Amino acid sequence: MGGMRMSSPRYEKPIIEKNWYRFRQNNIRGYFQHPAVEVFVEALDSDHADRIAERGIGLSFTEYCECCGHRWRKASEDDAQKEAPSPNGGVNEDNVKKVLIFKMGSKQLTP
Ligand SMILES: [Zn+2]
Repeated sequence: MGGMRMSSPRYEKPIIEKNWYRFRQNNIRGYFQHPAVEVFVEALDSDHADRIAERGIGLSFTEYCECCGHRWRKASEDDAQKEAPSPNGGVNEDNVKKVLIFKMGSKQLTP
């Protein structure tokens, strides 16, 4: 039997499961704040996405208004998506960016 012979074990990179998590800002008290209305974070799981969002990007999960609720809600595994989000360079009526995208291990994709 000819053909190739496995002379040495093939090095295989470990498979890292990554997902995109979407954070959507609630305009509590009637206005949006920086850094963006929608923030997409690539992460290993929703807890990881929350840590990046809070410590790395500065989203507050504690800002709360009695009538409007929380400005930002923590990610859920139900929100995980494989498809990369679409960049949108625009700003909204409060001059806040519409979309910010943070790819894991690199700088943000959109300004
Ligand atoms: Zn309110």
